[in-house]
Amino acid sequence: MEMRIGGKEVSSPDNTWIEVKNPATGELIDRVPAGSAYDVAEAVEAAAASLGGWKKKGMRERGTILFHAAEKVREQHKDLARLLTMEQGKPLREAIDEVRGYANILEYYAGISAQPAGEAVRLGAAGDALVVREPLGICGAIIPWNMPVIIMGWKTGPALLAGNTVVLKPASTTPLTNLRLARILDEAGLPSGVLNVVTGSGGVVGEAMVKHPGIKKISFTGNCTTGQRIRELASEHLKDITLELGGSDPMIVMDDADIEKTVDGALRGRFYNAGQTCTAVKRLYIHEKIAEEFLQKLKARTSALNVGNGLGPKTDMGPLNSAEQRERIIRMVDRTRERGEGTILTGGGVLRGKAYESGHFYHPTLVTDVAPDSCLVTEELFGPVLPVMTVPDLDAAIVAANTSRYGLGASVWTKNIHTVKRVFDEMQAGIIWVNRHLTVPPEVPFGGNLESGIGRENGYHAVDQYSRTKTLFLGW
Ligand code: NDP
Repeated sequence: MEMRIGGKEVSSPDNTWIEVKNPATGELIDRVPAGSAYDVAEAVEAAAASLGGWKKKGMRERGTILFHAAEKVREQHKDLARLLTMEQGKPLREAIDEVRGYANILEYYAGISAQPAGEAVRLGAAGDALVVREPLGICGAIIPWNMPVIIMGWKTGPALLAGNTVVLKPASTTPLTNLRLARILDEAGLPSGVLNVVTGSGGVVGEAMVKHPGIKKISFTGNCTTGQRIRELASEHLKDITLELGGSDPMIVMDDADIEKTVDGALRGRFYNAGQTCTAVKRLYIHEKIAEEFLQKLKARTSALNVGNGLGPKTDMGPLNSAEQRERIIRMVDRTRERGEGTILTGGGVLRGKAYESGHFYHPTLVTDVAPDSCLVTEELFGPVLPVMTVPDLDAAIVAANTSRYGLGASVWTKNIHTVKRVFDEMQAGIIWVNRHLTVPPEVPFGGNLESGIGRENGYHAVDQYSRTKTLFLGW
């Protein structure tokens, strides 16, 4: 597949390509150009040329185009989901959820396009003021490989509605669905050059975007180290940034929780997308009174998960997205085992056998009695491994859960409203779920505290993050 610049498909100028392989089978699916700073400059030029016309359209008109795009995405959701599973690895039904979720995001932003934006301020004898919002200009979106479709929606939905034009860089292992979606948006009526997709490595294309003075904002999702590098580079031109840098979400289970529902929540919260979700359950704190019964049930359900190619009709969990990601998980679990920092209750290794030999599969894993300073607790655990810690009461759970350097999400499982209030007040996180985890609808703001990032995505707040106020002061 080729890049998309100025509404046209653009090949690799110097014939250098990135191969996109199926993480379940190792098979080559397609290749995309390994773009360069030159391609970024071309994309910025196309985005600049289309900016004036796009800005001039009203919010309603822009929203209508997003709505048409959502319709087209729904019509083609099966093909899009299949492509997503092939490049990313997730089970087909999760890919369908993700593609439909993308359509929901476009529809949400289309829906709010009819809301009045801005305000009038009466200042008495001094006059009156009219405060409007204007787009920032050209925005850069750097997308990760774990939820490439949803995250494309989180970034481009509000950016486009606010009247910006966009240069987007997909992750190198998952560029295909992003490219297909960009074409659908153009077919739905997006003027050429409003959304451009440049493929290539983070170090080359990503950095060229961050350094380009024509790009006024960078929105990035990925790891902390890359986020810090982007922040440093972006500061040179005082660029606006939104950084979503992951999390280590705790799930706190109290002794009054509904055990069946909580086991379901832990299973989905941890093993959805093979654990490669920023808001996945990454640490579980369970009240000692119910720990035994809960763990018995969770172990039975975890070891019964069907791991395989995401296209398989019975697959519950696919492979990790790349050899590097699996290697990272292998290292973390092996280190914990070697140091005696936890007990493997189930799983704890790669899957063996013919069906698995060419893919990046790892067993769904539970580790109990995990030491608080184990890497499973202190680092972002981006794979199908759940460390479980037993706690005597809510105080101990909150203290332990709050030790992380991340603060993205947290959940509490209880029937007690006072427990909910304490967790809501005391947990350092951008979102607190009660008897639920993972769900992030487009209507509610999403983003983390501490090292989980800067800024918020989703909701009307996101439109504010892709625009700024401008005031007209009327002295009568
Ligand atoms: P990265 O942060 O490297 O990748 C995310 C995106 O950033 C990709 O598009 C990547 O491009 C791009 N990128 C990489 N380096 C730069 C750079 N210097 N300047 C600009 N853009 C860049 O994440 P990894 O793929 O290395 O994943 C490592 C870990 O990060 C995971 O194990 C997980 O812990 C965390 N992570 C968290 C995510 C979340 O949603 N919270 C999402 C992804 C990762 P390219 O693909 O070409 O390298």
